[in-house]
Amino acid sequence: SSGEEKPEDYLFKIVLIGDSAVGKSNLLARFARNEFNPNSKSTIGVEFQTQKMEIKGKEVKAQIWDTAGQERFRAVTSAYYRGAVGALVVYDISRRQTFDSIGRWLNELHTHSDMNVVTILVGNKSDLEDAREVSSSEGKSVAEAQGLFFMETSARDSSNVTAAFQTVVKEIYDILT
Ligand code: GDP
Ligand code: MG
Repeated sequence: SSGEEKPEDYLFKIVLIGDSAVGKSNLLARFARNEFNPNSKSTIGVEFQTQKMEIKGKEVKAQIWDTAGQERFRAVTSAYYRGAVGALVVYDISRRQTFDSIGRWLNELHTHSDMNVVTILVGNKSDLEDAREVSSSEGKSVAEAQGLFFMETSARDSSNVTAAFQTVVKEIYDILT
């Protein structure tokens, strides 16, 4: 790379996927606006939010796409995935059913996007330790088996939220530069 790139040269589309109510919208709200909504319904929101980040001294923009609740009807369209270079596949550590859906979401991701999409498996709601139904080691071993990054997060208490997005963006940057 010449070192002459303009900051706007780096725009990475990243998609949030996973079952309804795992906390996708709140992860994005926490990351992009440092907000958390304890009563969030699947509101019809903006399609995506763009967040500037600094990676290795360069400004990059992560364009993060959130579903508007279509995942409830298994109707996330191919347009949603088109051009994605990164993905956060999210489950809720307090609901095993959402962890059991991970394989289906990975299949859908690979059907609609490049096999090389940088993917992190995210076990959200780590603040709900007392209600935990999926252990950290289970999450980690699925991620290892599938070749994914792995992190547990809490949109409520902020833990690992920035780190999860940053892990994906940094890896994309490393691959593309
Ligand atoms: P989405 O359907 O995947 O977009 O999920 P939402 O972001 O709408 O969140 C669904 C519900 O889970 C809401 O009531 C949120 O307040 C709650 N929630 C989201 N993230 C967390 C978290 O990290 N911890 C806890 N305790 N609740 C969360
Ligand atoms: Mg949502």
